[in-house]
This record gives sequence, structure tokens and C-alpha cells, in this order.
Amino acid sequence: MAQHFDAIVIGAGMSGMYQLIKLRELGLSTRVFEAGTNVGGTWYWNRYPGARFDSETYSYQFSFDKELLETWDWKEHFAPQPETLSYLNHVADKYDLRRDIQFRSRVKSAHYQEKTNTWLVTLEDGSEYTSHFLITAVGPLSAPTMPAIPGVKDFKGTSYHTANWPHEPVKFEGKRVAVIGTGATGVQTIQEVAKTAKTLTVFQRTPNWCAPLLNRPITPEEMKEIRAGYPALFQRCMETFSCFIHTPIQKNTFEVPKEEREKVWEELYNSPGFGIWLGNFKDMLMDREANAAISEFVANKIRQRVKDPVTAEKLIPKNHGFGTRRVPMETKYYEVYNQDNVKLVDIKETPIECINATGIKTSNAQYDFDIIIFATGFDAITGSFDRIDFRGVGGEKLRDRWRYGPETYLGMSTNNFPNMLMLVGPHMALGNIPRTIEFNVEWVTGLVKFAVDNKIDRIEPSAEDVQKWTDHVKSLGEGNLAFEVDSWMTGVNSNVEGKQVRIINRYSGSAPEWRRLCTEAAARGYTEFCRKMPVAA
Ligand code: NAP
Repeated sequence: MAQHFDAIVIGAGMSGMYQLIKLRELGLSTRVFEAGTNVGGTWYWNRYPGARFDSETYSYQFSFDKELLETWDWKEHFAPQPETLSYLNHVADKYDLRRDIQFRSRVKSAHYQEKTNTWLVTLEDGSEYTSHFLITAVGPLSAPTMPAIPGVKDFKGTSYHTANWPHEPVKFEGKRVAVIGTGATGVQTIQEVAKTAKTLTVFQRTPNWCAPLLNRPITPEEMKEIRAGYPALFQRCMETFSCFIHTPIQKNTFEVPKEEREKVWEELYNSPGFGIWLGNFKDMLMDREANAAISEFVANKIRQRVKDPVTAEKLIPKNHGFGTRRVPMETKYYEVYNQDNVKLVDIKETPIECINATGIKTSNAQYDFDIIIFATGFDAITGSFDRIDFRGVGGEKLRDRWRYGPETYLGMSTNNFPNMLMLVGPHMALGNIPRTIEFNVEWVTGLVKFAVDNKIDRIEPSAEDVQKWTDHVKSLGEGNLAFEVDSWMTGVNSNVEGKQVRIINRYSGSAPEWRRLCTEAAARGYTEFCRKMPVAA
């Protein structure tokens, strides 16, 4: 017989970990299923060379535990993956989380059983569990995709996807290495591998607008100051549009004279982190001319940094403006292309025809390698849901339901899938994800508590509320230049069948507004979730 829990959580990344802490506080029996061998989610899987935070470390940690904030010292302004992973292990140790987490346990299916109002969860090994609540903590960027290139499995050398990187160190000395993909992951990988590889060949399909990260160590004195500033820092994160410390300049680009504008951009380009993307003039992502102006500024920076003008032009995006895709943060990325051991292959010009036993064949050359690194990204946001066979009332498949884009209420639930709640799912404000996670988990915990306290067996939004929220999310995307560009942020992945059409898969209003709407729904007594049954007196 299947073992029963009050709640099952899928995933032991940051959201699953915090959710477990909160469900324990409610006294609920909880089991977390995690495919990996330890906690950490994104920071467990993505251990590729050069992986690190692109956001200020101290703004990207848990804020709910004062003692944790008081005792954990960060070493770099943008922490490398091993530092973040040891932080998350420290959290798991502190809260003794692992006793409720079942590792090496990939969930295959989750079927709602109407008679009992429970979920039947089946793992890949065939074992079965049931629960009253099902909480998904599967992550927006956790379903890695290999490129749909003929012969991708034929390569006889060593190959890795960046999100399935081995736990043992990989040496590049003396090796001929290829990297396919130049998103945020590819950029971090390339600049690191170029340091030691005998040769590095980068296969670029679409260049991205990258900006300097300007990372540096945190001195003990700085750490003291950062710690003293935590209350103000987290308060600020709750007030900004996307919960980052950066916030747009409250002026439009052309309200400011050209000379002054250039000075602002120069300062932003020479400041650490996302400032140039998220702390720029407020119309940058809405006004085409404003966007063209900042794009030209950054293009000139690339031209200055890359010695060969032909290579420089190849590295400058031509099909989308600055900031309309997630800006990869870099550390001497452009200078890598000045090195003798590095070659850029523009695969729009000379497409890859196939991967074969010895390497990669393009339309005009055969390149042989020892190692191929696939930095080809993820089936984002809905992909990790699609990989599990979720079935709701009447056996409805979530995968079918979301075929043309997700439909949710508040980004945390959908109709016909009762008692299933989502953490960092589609249609919610992403931004600084740990800040969203904390709010999201606390909100879900509030709803679960309400249902338990009031003995409500089935919580579920109505089809009308889901439609309204989905339409609202879509309307917020109108006029936003980012939704006119193919990227994971618009649900496009050339390697996944049926994902070639842009959709609105994330909430593009402000995070404070999203939180306000969620808080109001809670203050109404979660009525939208409980309309099918009377609220207990
Ligand atoms: P990505 O942004 O989706 O980039 C995937 C890259 O692979 C793109 O350059 C894409 O080219 C290329 N590609 C995909 N399929 C291909 C194919 N069949 N042939 C040739 N090229 C192909 O994925 P990512 O770089 O892993 O980043 C995803 C997100 O993860 C980021 O945007 C960011 O939000 C997050 N991330 C965060 C950090 C951090 O905070 N430190 C670091 C890394 C990633 P096209 O552009 O032409 O599709």
C-alpha cells in the first residue's frame, strides 16, 4: 500500500527546502522527493566551470532566519556555485531537512484521486505514495535540453550538458573543447574554459548582450557592513520592481541630454551586477528608440573590447535589443575572443549539419574535439511540469492543458488540479527568485493552514478565475519588447517539439503588485479557492 503524507513536495531546491521548513511548522507530515543526491536544486545541478550568482550574493539568500543571516559569511559579491551550494547544505544541516527528503527519487507521475481528494505520486522506480497536498518546487530552469542536432549522440569523445555537470573536476588542459550555446550559462563557461583549454571553439547561433559583472571578494569589514544593512537591503528588495537591489531611473531616456545619458550609461557599465539592465532609464524595455540607443552604446563597448572587427560584429546581437533577453553577466568574456586559442563559429552563417564521432560538422568545415559542452539551456518554466505526468480531475493531463501556454490563478494553482500548489511556477513574478520563493512559500503555507484549520478537503480556483488571471498576465506583457523576442522567457525552445511559438509564461508586472494581489486573495479568506464547498464555520 502506498505510504501516505499530509503533503508531498517535488524538489529540494531553495523553494522545496523552505516549504519543508514551513510545513513542519504546521505539524504536517511531509515528504520531499528529489532527483539529485543532495539539496540545492539549481545550485546542485549547475556545477559547470565558472557557474556563479549573477546577482548580489547577499540579496539572493534566505532572509527568513535572522540567526542564519548573523552567522553566515559570504566571501564574494557574486558567489561561485560551490559557495552557494555549501550555504544551502548548511541550511539543510541547521534544520535537519534531509530526514524528510528522499533523494535519487525522480517523480514520474502525480494523479489526483477524486474519491479520496488525494494525490497518487509515482516515482520512476515504480514506488507509490499518496498525499493530501501536492506542492511543486520543480524550478523554472531545471529541465535541460540537448540540441536537436542530427548525430548528437554519435560523438565518441566526452560531452556534458552544463546542467548535468559531473561532481568530479573536469580538466581542459591540452584538450580541444567546443561549447554550443552563448546564453548566461555559455558565457560563464566559455570565459572559464578559455583559460586552460588547448583550443576552444564557440558555436554561436544568436549573440547576447552581455555586461560586466565586476565581481570581487568581500572583505571581513565589508561583510560586517553588509550584515548591518540586511534589514534595509531586504526592505529595498521588497519594494523594487523585480526584487533586485537595482531599480530603474525614474526618467525616460530622451528626457536626459545625450552627454548626461552617456555618462549615466558609462557609470552603469562600470558598476557591478545588473544595474545596466535593471537600473537603467525606465522606458528602456518599452520604447524602441530608447532601446536602440542603449543597444548602440553597448555595441560600441563590444567593438572596443574585441580586436578583430569581424568577430566583434558577430558578437553584437542584430535581432533583439539590449535587455530584451536575460543579460548574461561576464568577466572578460569579450576579451576571450582576442586569445589565439579561441575561435568563434557563427552558425547562422555556417550552420551545424551534424555531430559525428569526432566532432562537429558545419556547412563549410569539420571540427574535431576531445570535449563538447552543451550550454543549450532549458525547456523553461513549463518544461519541468511537462516532464511529469500530472493528471487532475477526470484524468485531465496538465501537459495537454498547457499545450498553448500555462493557465493559472496567481501563478500558484490551476483549476481541475485540486490541492496542488506551485512554487515559482508559471505566471508569477520571477526576478530575484529567492525573494519570490519566500513570499510564495509563505503564501502557500497560509492557504494550506487555512484548509487544514477549516477542514476543507479540496482547494481549487475556478475556471473563471484562472481565465481572468491568465488574461491579466497576458495583458501585462503587451508593449513589453521582451515578449517580441525568442527566448526561454517567451517559452521558445528550438529543441522541444511544440515550443516554437512565443507565449506569455511569466508575470511581467511589478513584484510588489503581484504580492499585493496575492495578499488580497488571502485576506478575502481564500474564497476563490474554496468556492466549491462551504467554508467551515
Ligand atoms: P539560454 O539562455 O536558453 O541559452 C541557450 C543557448 O544555447 C543559446 O545561445 C541558444 O541559442 C543555444 N542553443 C540552444 N539550442 C541550440 C541548438 N540546437 N543549436 C545551437 N545553439 C543552440 O540558456 P542558459 O544559458 O542556460 O540560461 C538560461 C537562464 O538560466 C538564464 O537566462 C538565467 O536566467 C539563468 N542562469 C543564471 C545564472 C546566474 O544567475 N548566475 C547563470 C546561468 C544561467 P539561441 O539564442 O539562438 O536560441
